Parts: sequence; C-alpha cells; structure tokens
Amino acid sequence: MKCTFLGVGSAFDAKQTNVSVLVNAEGRNFLLDCGFNAGHKCIRELQDPSLLDAVWISHFHGDHFFGLPFIFGSCLTAGRSKEIHICGPQGIEGKVVQIIDLAYPTMRAKLGFDVVFHECCPGEEGSVAGFNLRTCAMDHSESAQGLRLECAGKTVFYSGDGSLTEDCLSVGRNVDLGILESYGLDESVKGHSSVAECIEFAHSAEMGKVALVHLEPFVRTYCSVQITEMFAQVDEFEMYLPKEGCCVDLC
Ligand SMILES: [Zn+2]
Repeated sequence: MKCTFLGVGSAFDAKQTNVSVLVNAEGRNFLLDCGFNAGHKCIRELQDPSLLDAVWISHFHGDHFFGLPFIFGSCLTAGRSKEIHICGPQGIEGKVVQIIDLAYPTMRAKLGFDVVFHECCPGEEGSVAGFNLRTCAMDHSESAQGLRLECAGKTVFYSGDGSLTEDCLSVGRNVDLGILESYGLDESVKGHSSVAECIEFAHSAEMGKVALVHLEPFVRTYCSVQITEMFAQVDEFEMYLPKEGCCVDLC
C-alpha cells in the first residue's frame, strides 16, 4: 500500500493544497478527501481519471469535498465509462449532487459512468472497491468521521478533521499508518486535535507510523522547531510532517 500526500493544508492555508491522500493498493486507487484545490492534484498524479476507483469524504466542509466537481468534469472529458464509488457520512449523495449541479448544471446528465454512493454511519464496517472500511465519529463543528482503510494486509487510519474521540482509539488501533489532523500545537482547539494530542493518541493506539496534516497555517510556519523537538521525544513509532507530494510506502 502506497499513500501519496496530494495536499496537507487546512481550510484557508493559501500556501498549501487542502489535505488529500491518494491510497494505492493492488492496482486500485482510493482518495481520502478532495477539497477546493485537491481535485487538480489527484488527476495530475493519476494522469488517467479512470484510474480513480473510490473517494472518501470525511465531512461536508469545502476544504474536504469541493474538489469533486473537478474530478467529475475530468472523468467526463476523458470519456470515463467505469463506475466510481463515493463514500461519506449520511447525506453524501445529496451533498455531492448539489455541488456538481451548482458547478455545472448540465454535467450529471452527460456522465458516461455510474456513481455509486455509500452512506456510512459511525461504527459501520464495509467493503468498497477492494478496500475494507471502518468508521468512527470525530468531534468537529460539522458531523465528521474518521476512517480505517485496509487492503492487502496493510491499514491506514485517517482522522479527517476534528478532535479524536474514544471511538477512534479502537478503529485506529495498530494501523500501519495514522494520518491525523493536528490543527494546534499543544493546546486544545475546540473541534480540532493538536500535535501533542495526536502523539498521545498514536501511543495509545500503538500505531506503526504517524503523519500529521491540516496544521493551522501559523503553527506550520512558525512552530517547526517545537514540532521537531516533540517528534524527537517519540521513539516507539515514526512521525512525519509530510510535505505536498510526499509518499509513504507501507510494503
Ligand atoms: Zn472541517
């Protein structure tokens, strides 16, 4: 399993692409979130839009799903015929239809491929496009879910956006890679996690490697020394502050 960080930024970080991770396993591609400017990065990485098998939307904030009209438009212009799977919280179909229609009112009628929606409730388990999924509730200003994704014996936990909850601990336990939203440095920010909280969580969940994403722009720009010092105190697992384009191979 290979995870490519197409973007690592939070909602309004002008220097970063919104957090979005392309997971490749056994020849299939699963995209984790697709914000304002992430659709471009996904299609540029894949080159052929038909190679995208499934998309997970953690919640309905623009920096996590407003890139979908670009994905759909790219699939249309490339002549895609293979179905695409879109997974997310309750209401996923209505929300996605709404933004596609708002962006391009006549586009959906022209699509030459099926869109299969998977509505997930927290705690649910399922299988989509060859990947096993298990979800948990996050504590965020909008209803949001974390996701455990498994394929070919490798596992990833992606928290999306929000504070880590008790449920996240069992869903994220023992994964090969935890991709955790860390908005703040060491202080709790309502509805978000911090670098310090993510390190503690990763310890408790016994994760193999941990990548922190979605940092508040000030924290990303001015707190790198403190973050490096915090990482240096961790020796049970590898920690990354991935840059855009960074790839983690879990084989
Ligand atoms: Zn959000």
